[in-house]
Amino acid sequence: MVMKLSLPLAISLLALAALASAQQPATNFQWPEGKQVALSLSFDDARASQVERGAALLDRYNVKATFYVMPSGVERKLAGWRKVVASGHEIANHTLNHPCSGNIAWSRNNSLENYTLERMRQELLGANRRIQELLGVTPESFAYPCGQTFVGRGVDARSYVPMVASLFVSARGGSGKMPADPARIDFSQLAAVDSDGKDFKQIFRIVETAKQSGSWVVLAGHDMGEDGEQTTRLAMLEELIRYAQNPANSVWIAPVGRVAQYVHAQRRKKIQSTKPGQPEAFRLQPRGQPR
Ligand SMILES: [Zn+2]
Repeated sequence: MVMKLSLPLAISLLALAALASAQQPATNFQWPEGKQVALSLSFDDARASQVERGAALLDRYNVKATFYVMPSGVERKLAGWRKVVASGHEIANHTLNHPCSGNIAWSRNNSLENYTLERMRQELLGANRRIQELLGVTPESFAYPCGQTFVGRGVDARSYVPMVASLFVSARGGSGKMPADPARIDFSQLAAVDSDGKDFKQIFRIVETAKQSGSWVVLAGHDMGEDGEQTTRLAMLEELIRYAQNPANSVWIAPVGRVAQYVHAQRRKKIQSTKPGQPEAFRLQPRGQPR
């Protein structure tokens, strides 16, 4: 039967269809065991509170996180960091000296504007070597100090993203609000969400929204404690872990390196099964269909 629609009705139906498609999952990425969202906890700078307070909480729940460390921080609490490795957490690279823009007061004497690509290369390789000496592991993940990805200034400024991409499987960029879309992300500039100072409700909303599109939430924090500046609250973390470990909530919680390896493998599989010449940003299989 052919139904004739009035123009206004047809327009409103079209608008509804557009709205429905905007609400469709962006990628329908297939996470392990049918999970609907991936969640990685990460902490920067090898701060003492991470080994003194945070690691014990993570270990109580057998949750593995990613620690982006400078070797100098590891040296200050070496026994604690060795325990972190033995517990199965991921140790990742955060440079030797944490250079950021000289526009930040504490980075004036160690500014990216005064770096060259070669100096940065030595910095990255040096940190990997030292971490290997101290902890017996070689990082395959990296986080840009201050989320900044350049060296030099003005006409001599260069991106060090390509260098990072050649040395690491993944690299976490600056923190923002947007979770990573696993089908489209550049592994050398992973989107992250700040976890410092947030309560559980705030993070819960972010993870639940990410679930709608099958995204990957990489949380980025610094100190681990009750309160204070640049501190991811332990109470929030405990509530978040309990929520993520409840199978009913369908969250895959794993370190950045593990999720990156998984996404790499899924994308490779998809490329192999995609006709030559098709772009990498393929449409992935809708969730719920057989793999
Ligand atoms: Zn840092």
